[in-house]
Amino acid sequence: MSQRIDAKNSRNYLVKCTCPHCNQQSEHSFSRVQKGAMLMCPRCSKLFSQGKTAFA
Ligand SMILES: [Zn+2]
Repeated sequence: MSQRIDAKNSRNYLVKCTCPHCNQQSEHSFSRVQKGAMLMCPRCSKLFSQGKTAFA
């Protein structure tokens, strides 16, 4: 029962991004976010780019 979460070692782990349009948090693949790719909000279906600003 030793479940390890290798989030940082996984190539496509998810990061939470906040949609600037509706403030909904959604999870997106880190590699996409890091590249500055456009992400689609599941709530309002608008595209946004998280960039490098909101990682804390
Ligand atoms: Zn949204």
